[in-house]
Amino acid sequence: MPLQVYRCSEHGEFDIYLSFRDDVPQIAHCLTCGVVSPHIIKPPAGIKVVRGWNEQANEMQRDPYTQAKYQATHMYHEQKDLGVRVDKPTEAGIQAAAAEIAGKKTWRDGSKPPIREKR
Ligand SMILES: [Zn+2]
Repeated sequence: MPLQVYRCSEHGEFDIYLSFRDDVPQIAHCLTCGVVSPHIIKPPAGIKVVRGWNEQANEMQRDPYTQAKYQATHMYHEQKDLGVRVDKPTEAGIQAAAAEIAGKKTWRDGSKPPIREKR
C-alpha cells in the first residue's frame, strides 16, 4: 500500500506515497503547514459499508406502486423523526405518486409498467 493518508487538523487529509519497503509511519508532517498529523486507515476502495435508503429504494423499483409506497413511507418517518407533523401517506397519494413514476418510466420492451392495485 504505497499511498497512505494522513489528516492535518488544519488542512484536512493529504496523501503520501511510500515505497513498498517502507514501514508505514503512524504520523507524517502536513504538506502545507508541517504540523504532525496522524495516519488514517481507509477501507479498501470500492467497498461500500453503509447502505443508503436510495440504494434500498432502487431495489424496490420493480414496480411503481412499491416504489411510491416505499418513498412515501420513508419520507413520513423521516419527517416524523425530525419532529415535523405530517399526515400519514394516503392510499390515494401513493397511487398518484405511482402513476407519476409509471408515466416517467418505460420498461425495456417499450411498454409501461402496470400500476398495482391495493392489496
Ligand atoms: Zn496543515
